[in-house]
Amino acid sequence: MNCKKCQIPCIKNGFQNSGKQRYYCKLCKTSQQESYTYKAYNKHIEKRIYLLVTNSCGINDISRILKISRHTVKSKLLLMSERIKKPIFNEFAQKYEIDEIFAKVTALPNNCWVTYAINRETKQVIDVNIGKRGAKDLDKLVNRILLLKPKRVYTDKWKSYKTLIPNHLHRMGKTLTNNIERYHLNLRTHIKCLSRKTICYCKSVKTLTAIVSLYFWGYTLNFKTLPKVR
Ligand SMILES: [Zn+2]
Repeated sequence: MNCKKCQIPCIKNGFQNSGKQRYYCKLCKTSQQESYTYKAYNKHIEKRIYLLVTNSCGINDISRILKISRHTVKSKLLLMSERIKKPIFNEFAQKYEIDEIFAKVTALPNNCWVTYAINRETKQVIDVNIGKRGAKDLDKLVNRILLLKPKRVYTDKWKSYKTLIPNHLHRMGKTLTNNIERYHLNLRTHIKCLSRKTICYCKSVKTLTAIVSLYFWGYTLNFKTLPKVR
């Protein structure tokens, strides 16, 4: 077996308590074993969790499919979302749509909304806010859009937008946000805890934020490709 850090051959060094062969690297002076019994230590586990969570699997589903505990799934989701780097957008004079969808979360009953902004042309998600939808909650999201010096910002008639977006940029109307309404359907289909009329929901805003940001910007994590399934 080759060392996992230095890629040079290791020597055999007795056995683990589980009966597996232990190896020792003379260069970095560490003991290691070839494969682990507990499935959460598999090196492809994060990519598998990412693929499942963005393809309509909930935390309990992933735990059953990958045979790891759901607390591990949750902590891996949080760890992955901390590593995400939001892309920097260098674009000016673009058109944006902002809208919100309702999310069922135990910590904020009847008052949790996923509000996000997309570029009308490129369909890229610029920023997201998860929580209440008052003016002071949406302030940061709207400011990030205004920093890009937009040509127009389209929203529905929710009162918070009127106070935050300057009048000459702002256009309101149900038919003006068609693109983002279509994007809502993607979210409702691909994220299990956002699907309507089911028993699926998140317990905390933190977990929901992790899942949604993985869906939007998880591609920035640059996972290695998975081995082929035989
Ligand atoms: Zn080594």
